[in-house]
Amino acid sequence: MFETVQNPRLGKRTMASIALVALLVLAGFVTLFFASLNVFTSVALERAEGRAQLYRSTLISALERLEHLPFIVAQDPAVVRALAEKRVEGLNGRLEDFAQRSNAEAIYVMDANGWTIAASNYRNEVNFLGKNYGFRPYFKDAMAGKRGEFFAIGATTFKPGYFIGDPVRDADGDAIGVVALKVALSELTGAWAATGDDILVTNNDGIVVFATSDDWRYRSISPLSETQRAEIAAKQQFGKQDLTALAWQAGPNNQVQLDGTTYLYSNKMVEARGWTLWYIEPMANIYQRTWFVIVLGAIVLAGLAVAFQTFRSNQLRQALRASYDDRRKLLVEIEERKTAERRLERTQSELQRTSKLAALGQLAASVTHELGQPISAMRNYLAAEQISPNYKPGGLPDKLTALVARMENITKELKFFSSPAEPSAEEFHINDVINGAKSLTQHNLDAEGVEFETDLSINLPPIRGNRQRLEQVFVNLFRNAISAMAEAAKRKISVKASSDTDWLTIIVEDSGHGLAGQTIEQLQEPFHTSKPSGQGMGLGLAISADIIREHGGTLSANDMDDGAEFVVRLPVERDQK
Ligand code: ADP
Repeated sequence: MFETVQNPRLGKRTMASIALVALLVLAGFVTLFFASLNVFTSVALERAEGRAQLYRSTLISALERLEHLPFIVAQDPAVVRALAEKRVEGLNGRLEDFAQRSNAEAIYVMDANGWTIAASNYRNEVNFLGKNYGFRPYFKDAMAGKRGEFFAIGATTFKPGYFIGDPVRDADGDAIGVVALKVALSELTGAWAATGDDILVTNNDGIVVFATSDDWRYRSISPLSETQRAEIAAKQQFGKQDLTALAWQAGPNNQVQLDGTTYLYSNKMVEARGWTLWYIEPMANIYQRTWFVIVLGAIVLAGLAVAFQTFRSNQLRQALRASYDDRRKLLVEIEERKTAERRLERTQSELQRTSKLAALGQLAASVTHELGQPISAMRNYLAAEQISPNYKPGGLPDKLTALVARMENITKELKFFSSPAEPSAEEFHINDVINGAKSLTQHNLDAEGVEFETDLSINLPPIRGNRQRLEQVFVNLFRNAISAMAEAAKRKISVKASSDTDWLTIIVEDSGHGLAGQTIEQLQEPFHTSKPSGQGMGLGLAISADIIREHGGTLSANDMDDGAEFVVRLPVERDQK
């Protein structure tokens, strides 16, 4: 239905518009990508700020929950007495009680030199009793009269914790020892890990003290100097951890590279302790959301394109169908017009012919009438002459009698044309018509030695009309055939009749000289004849065609290999169909 138009200019233009549309779509997607990335980044950043704030406050509250406990325990007379008088009986149990009630990991008392004289974990195999923690900053700070706070990996238990120390004072207010508390914080960090978020807490040296991933814990986000390392070692803050540096590279826009992965971060200071809490989220998550929008956009765009295309091709198909219908209508109209023209032409030539025939009929009638009298008078005179005693056979009377006979023949023929019988509507069998015509021409057939063959069937349907007139048609056809075979060596007429539901077809074939390409229209033209004057008037086929037409049939003629065929088609009597 569609043809590809091979127009190079159009091709170039189409290519250019396709390229332009593709470029626009690409530009649209790039814009959409960066716009979505911006939106998702700022949403993620906002969320990170909120989460970081939340985690910071949970950390601070966990650290501050037991903050005052060492101070209170340091006021306990039992603790003061134990240090002042070196009497520790019952103090371990008392400290154990404090620890259990407050859910502290350990509470312990150290003398002025840092030796632990009582500890809540005294029952444990690994406990603080007898250990010296004089090197710990919280001890030093407390002995200096202020509160000491410190994160460290336990020197005895090797477990991390937050240590808070407060001085125990004698009556003069001098520090005579220290009460220390260890907060484990493992519950808190465990809860953080369970959320699936990524969190790190770094201390003022940049060392990760808490992290949701084991890979990050006790590693520094910036390389440590020798002095820093020496100080940390002196405080024994991180036990045997070698504190290697993390692959940490903070960039612009709150982005940081950590171990090869880019994260978006929000960091919050945990002021009093010099710590920083980092909430980090992989940029991959944000890119994933952005790509999701792009894919969604592409799907929507593709859907729209498909919908548009379907709509367009539907419109096109409808337009095509409409134009196809129009074309078909036009063709039908043209065909109808042509048929009408042909019918008109036929009617016109028919009219001409019928009027010629009518004129001929009148002429024939008057000629037969006018000549009838004198001819029969001549015949009478000649008959009288032939019976007179002076009659000599072969003389003038005989010659005239032959001429009179010829004249009578002509008038007979003319009479036949002049008075078309009233169309009668009798029902008869075509076989009878053909046989009747044959007997009427039998004399000529015999005289010319013509073989006559018929292929008829009694099962042919009857026809309705004027039997005598139809007989006249076949007499004419047989006579014409005999004339056409006058010069032929083989002389044969064969008549075949057959039928279908609508038509009865009779074919009269001869082995004469044929039609020499002449059409039936030419042959049936009145006065068209190839016969010499006096032998034919060129009216036989004109009259025959007329009679057949009266019966609703058609007459046609064809040249054959040797001879000609005339085909008569007559409508089958309706009741018989
Ligand atoms: P006519 O027989 O008086 O000539 P027709 O109208 O019957 O008039 O025939 C017209 C012409 O058609 C004939 O003169 C002849 O040339 C041609 N014709 C008719 N029948 C045949 C036939 N069977 N074979 C060849 N020519 C024929």
